[in-house]
Amino acid sequence: MTKKSPWTELVQPEQREETFNTLANSVERASTVVFKDVKSLRQRDWRDKSQYTYGLLGTPTTRKLERKLALMEEGKHCVLTSSGLSAISLTMLALLKHGDRVLIPDNAYEPAAEVARLMANNFGIEWAYYDPMHPETIDFTPNTRMLWTETPGSLTMEVVDLPALAAIAHRHDALVAVDATWGAGIVMPVFDLGADISIQALTKYQSGGSDVLMGSIVVRDERLHNRLLEANTCLGFGVSPEDCSLVLRSLPHLRLRYEAQDKVARDIAAWFRQQAVVANVLHPALPDSPGHDIWKRDFSGAASLFSVVFQPEISQQRVDAFIDALKLFHVGFSWGGSVSLALPFEIGRTRKDFPYKGSLVRFYIGLEEPHDLLTDLRQALEIL
Ligand SMILES: *Cc1c(COP(=O)(O)O)cnc(C)c1O
Repeated sequence: MTKKSPWTELVQPEQREETFNTLANSVERASTVVFKDVKSLRQRDWRDKSQYTYGLLGTPTTRKLERKLALMEEGKHCVLTSSGLSAISLTMLALLKHGDRVLIPDNAYEPAAEVARLMANNFGIEWAYYDPMHPETIDFTPNTRMLWTETPGSLTMEVVDLPALAAIAHRHDALVAVDATWGAGIVMPVFDLGADISIQALTKYQSGGSDVLMGSIVVRDERLHNRLLEANTCLGFGVSPEDCSLVLRSLPHLRLRYEAQDKVARDIAAWFRQQAVVANVLHPALPDSPGHDIWKRDFSGAASLFSVVFQPEISQQRVDAFIDALKLFHVGFSWGGSVSLALPFEIGRTRKDFPYKGSLVRFYIGLEEPHDLLTDLRQALEIL
């Protein structure tokens, strides 16, 4: 070959080092993936994860995160998506078709019900709410193909009897999908408990930094994995390798963070339980929280996310003032980072079967000094 222009040298990739090894997670970014020759291009299989075909479908960085997450949850395969919510929508889009029916628990993360609503309006997929605490009352029609669950329930924190739900669903030939974000993939053996599909919002504890949006779908069954991959290949919910490297960086200390925050959150939840202005504290590790016995049976730990329900005579206005008086707890959606959060909800006014009428505040306990958090809560509670 004739002498190349320096510009060409500049543009061409460098020869890779063969002697450089590191403990760091390298960030392999790509849109174009270069094939060795036309024959390998022609032989590509979009779904084969031992190959690389296009950046959207994965680079070594994304595959590495997929392998680690599947390993962590004791699944076999993992599909990454651009958010927890897109993990929910991809699961439904990939595994349900026109005429099928999906059951959504009445305590679900609200956007999951919105996905079902959209699919019903646009794609002829039926859906219905069910009461996850009473599996015997679930109405399985012959076209019910998926039982969606979340444990514990968003905001109201009911721990469901997953093995019982899964047994009934499987008897009716329906898949069991669990949004297991609260357990972070480490304190609940979802597959051993009967789930077919585990959904995680990696945005939460797995990222740990309040700076990444990502979701994962983990399965054991290869055919399910292929259907998810096939749908993802045409829908294109790809993730950024840069973001994957941030999650990879946080994963090794996920368990330490989770356990430390769990301990402090349980102390604070127990403290709230003793306050006169509080009607109940919904934290699965507390004995009068719904599904506590199931939590004890099925979980080996708890997230530092729980809800406090105030007495009904305390107005929303005063609860809002209490939240605003907090100095260390910030107001905002999502959770899983180092900073403590507080967020108001009015469940009793929207969910008729919810036993409490007072307003609810969801707390997320971060990594601050526990004593400082309690001091902050004490001073703000004086407003009530
Ligand atoms: C946060 C959350 C989601 C959505 O995750 P995003 O990454 O914010 O889309 C889904 N399910 C549960 C239980 C969550 O807490």
